[in-house]
Amino acid sequence: MIFFSELPALLGGTVLQLSEDAGITLLTLDSRKAIPGKGTLFFAIRGERHDGHVYLAELYQKGIRQFVVEQPVATHAFPEANIIQVPAAVDALQRLAAHHRAKFPIPVVGITGSNGKTIVKEWLFQMLSKYLSIVKNPGSYNSQVGVPLSVWQMQAHHQLGIFEAGISRPGEMERLAAIIRPTIGVFSTIGPAHDEGFASMTEKIHEKLRLFNDASVIVYCKDHEAIDAAITPLHRTTFSWGRSSGVDILVVPSEQGGYAVSYRGQVGELRLPFSDQASVENCFHCVAVMVWMGYSLHQVQEAINSLRVVPMRLELKEGINHCQLIDDTYNNDLGGLEISLQFLAHQHQRTRKRVILSDILESGLAEATLAEQVSDLLAKHHIQQFIGVGPMFHAYQQLFPAGSLFYSSTEDFLEQFDTSTLYEEIILVKGARPFQFERIVNQLQRKVHGTVMEVDLGALVHNLNFFRARLRPATRIMVMVKAFAYGSGSNEVANMLQYHKVDYLGVAYADEGVELRRNNITLPIMVMNPSEESFATLLAYNLEPEIYSFRILAALLKFLNNKPCRIHLKLDTGMRRLGFDGGELEELITILKANPQLTVATMFSHLAGADEHEHDSFSHEQADKFKTWATTVADAIGQKPVLHMLNSPGILRLPELQFDMVRLGIGLYGIDPTEEGTQGLRPVATLKTIISQLKHIRAGESIGYGRRGRATADMTLATIAIGYADGFSRAFSRGVGKVLIRGRRAPVIGNVCMDMTMVDVTGIGAREGDEVILFGGALPIQEVARSISTIPYEILTNTRERIKRIFVAEGI
Ligand SMILES: *Cc1c(COP(=O)(O)O)cnc(C)c1O
Repeated sequence: MIFFSELPALLGGTVLQLSEDAGITLLTLDSRKAIPGKGTLFFAIRGERHDGHVYLAELYQKGIRQFVVEQPVATHAFPEANIIQVPAAVDALQRLAAHHRAKFPIPVVGITGSNGKTIVKEWLFQMLSKYLSIVKNPGSYNSQVGVPLSVWQMQAHHQLGIFEAGISRPGEMERLAAIIRPTIGVFSTIGPAHDEGFASMTEKIHEKLRLFNDASVIVYCKDHEAIDAAITPLHRTTFSWGRSSGVDILVVPSEQGGYAVSYRGQVGELRLPFSDQASVENCFHCVAVMVWMGYSLHQVQEAINSLRVVPMRLELKEGINHCQLIDDTYNNDLGGLEISLQFLAHQHQRTRKRVILSDILESGLAEATLAEQVSDLLAKHHIQQFIGVGPMFHAYQQLFPAGSLFYSSTEDFLEQFDTSTLYEEIILVKGARPFQFERIVNQLQRKVHGTVMEVDLGALVHNLNFFRARLRPATRIMVMVKAFAYGSGSNEVANMLQYHKVDYLGVAYADEGVELRRNNITLPIMVMNPSEESFATLLAYNLEPEIYSFRILAALLKFLNNKPCRIHLKLDTGMRRLGFDGGELEELITILKANPQLTVATMFSHLAGADEHEHDSFSHEQADKFKTWATTVADAIGQKPVLHMLNSPGILRLPELQFDMVRLGIGLYGIDPTEEGTQGLRPVATLKTIISQLKHIRAGESIGYGRRGRATADMTLATIAIGYADGFSRAFSRGVGKVLIRGRRAPVIGNVCMDMTMVDVTGIGAREGDEVILFGGALPIQEVARSISTIPYEILTNTRERIKRIFVAEGI
């Protein structure tokens, strides 16, 4: 842990104020996403359009207490803050990250190149995460500020780092190299065009290669002549792959449709789940890294089989008129266009294909050449339907097939394009940032009407890693996915957890376990409330019962009729809910000894007051009892069950009681149930609906059932599409509940109805169809729960299954 008082020595600069020294846990640059708390350090960065200093007061108010600034600050306005002034906040951020990085003597893969960096990073991560605990950049956080924030995530339990680095002008790479310090370098590809910032292709390659100045090996594809020509004269240790001799790994397409791979006399065959050139190339970069690290071809093939071939940053969405959209509105360059077109070619669900493309900016090519190249690419991929947006395409229309459409701006497209001409097509929408093609996607996307629960799987994984980092490396994790995974959708959540290798899942009822098995979840599953009627199902689906009483134990033994079974013993050390009491252990031991067909997989107990400090001594008494009792049983029956006790608040507050395993529940979903207000968790679920209708109400009118709502003044009223049948509690009635519309809180008016609710939107400027947030985002679920005197657990699990779940997975 680095403390604020250490910063001057690390960053240079002057301390303007040190109120109370504190450790630094989170770094943030974004005032909107800053998580309040002592450990958060905000960097006030001044950019062309943006100045972080503007937000200091707001952040202080939110509870941020540590700041790095570039200009003097009136410290009296921030009495409790620690503030250090440095010449350049970005520099300081980078130095801090470099210092952090230096603490971890683990191998780190550094990836650079023009295209494919993010894919190579994500795939390598997927392929190796079965073997190693890995830290990587989230999404494509590869810039001068993205890299330091990524590297800051490194923790003691990580065994490998994988970081990509992107640059746009000379001089930048050396700075990133000092932060990432790769031991293994991967050079992906080099694009056809010159970036604006570089004099030549050679200069660009050389600049990128600086990332590997201190790496012990450079991995690359020797088929790329320009890259090879730049690397060979360096006389560095390299590990290359390619299609002709003179490489370390020779790759030749085989007749069986796979690739014959020879490496040091070993010959094998690898099968890839895709055939487009870009994917094959990205994959072989990963293969080369794994082989270099000593994995066998067999292990490499297993890793390839586990790849989920979801292209990064391309999202498939439902469009209007039975169309599908490929949303690729982040950037547009020739290399990227080719990848996207290949992806389009692989979508077989629609035969008609169309491309909507913005002008390509900063390509370094003359416009005519560029337009010609785009036209060639479209022809090569058999795209007949083309829509070009921007002055360049508009000017070079004659280069494209007849029937293509051209608009000189995004506005023109939005105003003039007749969307009814689209039907059953698949449409690639790809545009450079300034063209704001998300507006086009928005116009062509089918709107999901009504109420949805948005579940952020990226946040879920972040939270899982957050908890992992707090546990000893050997401690196992059981994740509780009961109650529809706390309302978040059990199959999708369980799938993610299986992918990220948790050790156990816990459900309340056998049916929940069956549902998971039917969806190919193979993790061991504990069922907490097994009924006698469910025993056959349990065995058939390989589910493991919790045994908490002699009655259920006897019933199970009778049913088993000497067949083997894995069970979980619950001991009641103070919760007074389910479980064996201390006085029952002797009899329990006798029965277990007489029935060696039972394997006691785990033994556990549950804390009654893990979330509150005042119960800490009680919690420790529970743990002492648990330890004594569990050891007594285990020794007597001669088995070594896994012991577990902690739930989420327990992990956060009493990590010393973690035993062999913990049971993670609400924390995974981004909620801290303790009084502490832990920072660093990301909320996973957002419940949203829409405004169905707006009305203007005159002062004195009554609103809703029982005329319980009254307009004290003229009011704009919105009827929103959610009610108590969806789980929006009737307790929110009459001003108790507030919802979020256009960033503002709108109180509930009158009584919540079965499927609808009325809210006051006076002065908010709301429109029909607007999004309404019931909880999540800027409306924390804790606040919502408090307003009706309940806990976030209940709000989350109240959300009915009939509400559609939408899973987003940015930055996984
Ligand atoms: C639900 C449950 C948990 C998880 O509790 P959280 O507070 O959500 O972390 C742990 N153990 C048992 C026995 C549970 O029923």
